[in-house]
Amino acid sequence: MFRYNRHVWQSDVLELAGVGHGFSTREGGVSTEAHTSSMNTGFYRGDSDDTVRENIRLLCSYANISENVVGTPQIHSAEIRVVGRENGGEGIFRDVPYPCDGFVTEERGVTLLIRVADCAPVLLLGIRGDGSPVVGAVHAGWKGTALGIAPKGAKMLFDMGAERVLAAIGPCIHECCFNVWPERRDELISLLGREMAERHITKRGDEFFADIVGINAELLYGAGVEKVDILPECTQCNPALYHSHRATGGVRGTMGAVIGITE
Ligand SMILES: [Zn+2]
Repeated sequence: MFRYNRHVWQSDVLELAGVGHGFSTREGGVSTEAHTSSMNTGFYRGDSDDTVRENIRLLCSYANISENVVGTPQIHSAEIRVVGRENGGEGIFRDVPYPCDGFVTEERGVTLLIRVADCAPVLLLGIRGDGSPVVGAVHAGWKGTALGIAPKGAKMLFDMGAERVLAAIGPCIHECCFNVWPERRDELISLLGREMAERHITKRGDEFFADIVGINAELLYGAGVEKVDILPECTQCNPALYHSHRATGGVRGTMGAVIGITE
């Protein structure tokens, strides 16, 4: 179950002593442009870099986690990087040539940031036998979802020693709004099989609508994740509270999802 507290959505499924997380909305930031206000975590969307950095700092404070953030550019891939405290600041205060769409860490004192505006933000918590956490964050748009970035992130946490993995999917575009080209359906069939496509893509009139939340949840359960918490909020249906690429034709800010092991 999710609750909205201090401008972020938090899932009780990810609650563990020493771990903090949050999914941002449009609230609680310092951006003043009409299309980015007030919480925009994306560079190059109309806000100054310092404004974006202050929003990211605020987001970390709402989530009660370190301001030492890694958040490099995203490329709609299934690339996930293992990072540590020394990677903090990458993509925020300095550029690095390592684009990717997810991070995992076992280190304290580094916050993982992924950015979305309709794509699904997936946060992951792994718990090892001694109770210690490992955490992950992935950006699952249409492409990343079809490439299986979410279950890949879960598998990485299992490989890092987690005995249990839990997941939460934050605000994103839902099946009510996410119409896709027929070619996308064909792509999903080729990557994930016809049954997955039939379960999660529905036809209304002449259009196909995809349920990326349902696909990610099914893939995560298939990878051994114990529980997937889903926020039933569609970004395109609620552009006043969420940045939505589709609702705005792309003139919009960007939301962030953060998770970290506290110091
Ligand atoms: Zn919708």
